[in-house]
Amino acid sequence: MRTPYGQECRFFFGDYFRGRNFEECRLITDSNSKLNWSTKICKSCPVPDILLANACQHMQLSGVIKKDFGFIKRMNVSAYCEKSKTKVKEPHIGCGQCHPLPDIFLEG
Ligand code: SF4
Repeated sequence: MRTPYGQECRFFFGDYFRGRNFEECRLITDSNSKLNWSTKICKSCPVPDILLANACQHMQLSGVIKKDFGFIKRMNVSAYCEKSKTKVKEPHIGCGQCHPLPDIFLEG
């Protein structure tokens, strides 16, 4: 579904049927972050770009809302690969197990 800022994000849910105006981020699981979430977070959220760059089915994203300087809220994303059982340092790229470099780059 598209966020109010136009990015495609599979975690965004909006229900506007018959005058409803319900929106939520389904990436967030902790209750404190749920309370602090609003669609303004989507504007600077890295998740839509991550989903565009890396569609790996084994990578699980999670997110919490952090405050910078005590008041500017932003999404802090972490990623885990269920196949390699490791934390993914760079979610845009992945852990590297499923998509290793082709042999032509590895042979000297
Ligand atoms: S905050 Fe990020 S992950 Fe959540 S709905 Fe908005 S763009 Fe998607």
